[in-house]
Amino acid sequence: MSDADPSGESPPTDRDYAEWLDALADGEGFALACPDGHGSLPPRRVCPECGSPDLSREPLRETGTVETYSVVHVPSPRFADDAPYATAVVDFGPTRLTGIVRGDDPDGDAAPEVAIGDAVTAAVGERATDGERLVVFRPAADRSPDE
Ligand SMILES: [Zn+2]
Repeated sequence: MSDADPSGESPPTDRDYAEWLDALADGEGFALACPDGHGSLPPRRVCPECGSPDLSREPLRETGTVETYSVVHVPSPRFADDAPYATAVVDFGPTRLTGIVRGDDPDGDAAPEVAIGDAVTAAVGERATDGERLVVFRPAADRSPDE
């Protein structure tokens, strides 16, 4: 496998992130972990914590825990058709993911309900505004506490 892209059409960083989204969409989401256990996500080439280039792929946990969230009523133009929506930072073990929260009703107008400590699953969805792929969190079917 070569990192060279003679066409020059797609920067490696975008491609790495697209591949990571593909894996997440297939239920095979992963984090990059260095030997010290610091987690990060593609397109990282080195650990952001300690600079180690020795990154391995660790499967993400099936469910994560909401650490923080905020409901956006006045979105940036790229999310104009998605509002209101909630963005959340979710702890998946070795790393955290940032994405938007969607409830069980994808066409609902109300902002989804989310709370710190909620268990959610991560998937790949599309931004309503322009179809760009992004990380989407949904309430985990089983809400039993997982501490
Ligand atoms: Zn590290």
